[in-house]
Amino acid sequence: VTPGTLTDAELLADKHDAVLLALHVGAHRHCGLAWCAITEGTVHLAECDWPQLRGWLQRIAPREVLYSADLPSAAEAELREGLAPTSLGTSAALTVRPAWVFDATLGQRKLCEQLQTASLAAWDAQALAAAQAAAAALLDYAEHTQGARLGHVRALRVVRPQENIELPATTRRNLELTQTLRGEPAPTLLSLLDTCATSMGSRLLRRWLLEPPRDRRVARQRLAALAVLRDQGVEPLRQRLRGLTDVERLTARIALRQVRPRELSGLAQTLQRCDALAQTVAELASGGDSELMTQLAESLRPPLAVAEQLTRALLPEPAALIRDGGVINDGYDAELDELRAIQANADGFLLELEARERARTGIANLRVQYNKVHGFYIEVTQGQLDKVPDDYRRRQTLKNAERFITPELKAFEDKALSAQERALAREKWLYERLLDDLQPFVPALGTLARALATLDVLVALAERSLTLQWCAPQFVPEPRIEIRQGRHPVVEARLQETGAGPFIPNDTVLDARTRMQIITGPNMGGKSTYMRQVALIVLLASMGSYVPAASCRLGPIDAIHTRIGAADDLANAQSTFMLEMTEAAQILHHASEHSLVLMDEIGRGTSTFDGLALAAAIATHLHDRVRAFTLFATHYFELTEFPTRHPGAVNVHVSAVEGKGRDIVFLHQIEPGPASRSYGVQVARLAGVPAAVVQQARHTLAQLEAESARLQRQFDLFDAAPPAPEPTDPSTPHPALQALAELDPDTLSPREALEALYRLQALLRPGA
Ligand code: ADP
Repeated sequence: VTPGTLTDAELLADKHDAVLLALHVGAHRHCGLAWCAITEGTVHLAECDWPQLRGWLQRIAPREVLYSADLPSAAEAELREGLAPTSLGTSAALTVRPAWVFDATLGQRKLCEQLQTASLAAWDAQALAAAQAAAAALLDYAEHTQGARLGHVRALRVVRPQENIELPATTRRNLELTQTLRGEPAPTLLSLLDTCATSMGSRLLRRWLLEPPRDRRVARQRLAALAVLRDQGVEPLRQRLRGLTDVERLTARIALRQVRPRELSGLAQTLQRCDALAQTVAELASGGDSELMTQLAESLRPPLAVAEQLTRALLPEPAALIRDGGVINDGYDAELDELRAIQANADGFLLELEARERARTGIANLRVQYNKVHGFYIEVTQGQLDKVPDDYRRRQTLKNAERFITPELKAFEDKALSAQERALAREKWLYERLLDDLQPFVPALGTLARALATLDVLVALAERSLTLQWCAPQFVPEPRIEIRQGRHPVVEARLQETGAGPFIPNDTVLDARTRMQIITGPNMGGKSTYMRQVALIVLLASMGSYVPAASCRLGPIDAIHTRIGAADDLANAQSTFMLEMTEAAQILHHASEHSLVLMDEIGRGTSTFDGLALAAAIATHLHDRVRAFTLFATHYFELTEFPTRHPGAVNVHVSAVEGKGRDIVFLHQIEPGPASRSYGVQVARLAGVPAAVVQQARHTLAQLEAESARLQRQFDLFDAAPPAPEPTDPSTPHPALQALAELDPDTLSPREALEALYRLQALLRPGA
């Protein structure tokens, strides 16, 4: 048993998969990845270059990573570091495997065997040699630890970097998708969405949430299915889904021959219930226009032969383990029935024998008994010994009695004692045959499991959309994020729970012309909430869910990047500011014009001027070069000047008013234009900072504001910087070089040579 190869339901979290991953590092540090959850049945393949590896590992979050013994030690150290427990929550066991198992040809063959195909062409995976090498190691190790072939692993998925909307680890953390910033499972977007009836559904929902596809067809299909479910009522389906067993994991355990009797009887019940479920879904599908529902209705048809056989084979409440017997049903096997009858009839037989022997011998107190040491015997007291017949053989002498055995009793004893042992052996044998009989159904059970999980997720999303009053998003081809009356689902739910008042909905419009919002306003005004709600709505729509808004029109999106908050990553020895800049750098390098970027309070971790200068430069870069959809919240008031010089940006602010007694009241409403002031002192007062401190702060603030107004007249924050020296194009040499090449030293006088030197030097000066 290793962290990545657990299959026992009792040792696994219901709602997570334990993922095993193999990593092959080939020439030029090109990486092949192959991974699967052994309890699931799909092998995933991907390839990436070394610098991207960390991101992949964080996204996949494996429990155990296999790598080759010939991995150079420098790379190994980097790998260890990349997988070390960090605030990002990755931590995995590392297992070295012999280099020869990382073999592409072997991998291809193993995968073909697993998938029962002749080539990997259908998955367009023939050329992924590095990933195939990893797959060889993965399957080899899985078989090795399970001691069995992985009959249930029948699906392959090639994950291409461009396929899904990129959600870097920072984004997952900052948006609190599956974990709060404190590392708790709730309240998060997942915990809000997850009203799934089965663990299979919960696990699939997590995957949908973390892997939203860029191709809108998937989301459209899911949305169409949700529309059908919403129309026809979700409650009957929820009822039917409740209490179904984890068919996905059971299928894996059947294939690995590790399944327990009780799990199988649970499966039998689930299969029987699936029939009714399939019918309901078929009815729903025929009443609506959803390809996905029609597909589901097909795949939900359970292999009823399995259910029948299981019910016939297993006792209604079988023992937990086959070892103890009491698993196989009566009437399933004649030999077992006979063996059991012997045990069951023992008492009757002994009473009958006792009566018979009393009559035959005339010994009224003769007793037939049993003990562990001596087995069965007939006991006759001292006074009656003269009546004992010839065929009695003495077994034991006691003070007041003698114990005998007869040939008939001896024969019975042999039969009874061995019957118990033989019944146990027979049950085990029958159970193994039952597992044999189930193997051909493994693929059908796998299909059923996937269909059940999908249905469960759809039903949960439909229920959520109705209960929380969400709307269906629309997808448009042009660049656009248009949200009317958007809400932050988790904050809204919390406000409702605590009765702290209503959530104030807000609009967002970003399009080809306006790609950036500079968001100002007081702390606690709702800037972070607003930015996150936009990201969550984009994510929900992309995964094919309804969204917390009155309407939503969404263009193509390739990534959601976030730079939010100031959590020190002490485990990685990075200071707040270093982390802030590292994350900003990643965004500036990776974001594209189809990305959504959230920048919250960039530059906060350093001195005012440093921070302001960096914030202004980063905003400029995002606006001019990257052209991503950007929500840029800042406490630097100076940045509200930005839109006057940058046509793609607009100012918005969260509104607040000063109530009676100079107390601040947050309205949480996003309004056009810059905030009029920052209300920092008022917020401090609200937080209970002593009056004297507040008073002094007010005084200092007035002075600082006067000083800064004077300063601002003197310099321009967005003054275009001198262009960075362009990297020289090798095809056109620098003018100085050209001039140098043109010189003919043999014809120059010493004076001319000196002048030429001056000229060359001048050519090298900037601005020349
Ligand atoms: P900021 O980022 O401006 O400091 P937050 O976004 O953290 O402010 O919001 C502070 C608090 O205000 C939130 O925890 C939430 O309780 C409340 N809040 C924010 N936005 C809204 C809203 N739209 N409607 C109601 N309450 C809100």
